[in-house]
Amino acid sequence: MPELPEVETIVRQLAPHVERRKLDEVEVLDWRWCRPADPIAVARTLRGRAVERLRRRGKYLVWELSGDIFLLLHLRMTGTLLLDPEPPPAHLRARLALSDGHVLAYCDPRRFGTAELARGAAELERFFAARLGVEPLGPDFTEPHLRALARGVRAPIKAFLLDQRRIAGVGNIYADEALFRAGIHPLRRTGALTRGQLAALREAVVASLAAGIDAGGATIDDYRDVSGARGAFQEEFLVHRRAGCPCPRCGNPVVKFVAAGRGTYACERCQPRPRRRRLVAARRALRPARAAR
Ligand code: ZN
Repeated sequence: MPELPEVETIVRQLAPHVERRKLDEVEVLDWRWCRPADPIAVARTLRGRAVERLRRRGKYLVWELSGDIFLLLHLRMTGTLLLDPEPPPAHLRARLALSDGHVLAYCDPRRFGTAELARGAAELERFFAARLGVEPLGPDFTEPHLRALARGVRAPIKAFLLDQRRIAGVGNIYADEALFRAGIHPLRRTGALTRGQLAALREAVVASLAAGIDAGGATIDDYRDVSGARGAFQEEFLVHRRAGCPCPRCGNPVVKFVAAGRGTYACERCQPRPRRRRLVAARRALRPARAAR
């Protein structure tokens, strides 16, 4: 599933090909792509509009169109955007013909990808306010901001990182990689992380995402860039998908387990597993006895 670095790669590749062009023709071939909106009405709204800017917010591609219309694309599990695909691609869901003759195909075998429209900046802001938290590569993702987000959260840190309403754009790959870099076990309770751990985690999230972007994203199953090429970041994974392989830091085998309902990878020597509650409770019970001595 494309995460922030994969979507960023697509946006960077695509922007020079679509900005300052018009959408001459728009065909919605799958009603599910833009539901609950009517596909014919969506195509009619888009047709003839100039693409003023293409950017990313979280895992969304944001098309800023003339007349204050925004097209918000999400690739979900298996969506891809292909520029001038040859031969015509399978699983075509929508087709955008640009005024300079280029064609953009939205393909999606599993059909979970979505297209939504926002009319005006206020509606765009409301859309994202309801769905997305801080942009991790933006200026607002500071240590104090992360501390404020984490305060009092009982969920494990892996679940916290996957929650798009807190930090936008981090998914299963980059959560594992960031937690390894920060030396934090994915099952640690978010609210119990120290100031130092949260500072390390902030750095690690940024570093993991930046490394992913530098490698053109990661391809595990379906992700392709706009030319149909695979990303390369999967070759550089530190722990993700590396169960049984030696940890790049200490050589201990990487282990796989389930956290936040997702296959999760960690080195339990570099990322010590939180102690079981019983032990913690036992220690707590000992403390007053010691103090009394
Ligand atoms: Zn290790």
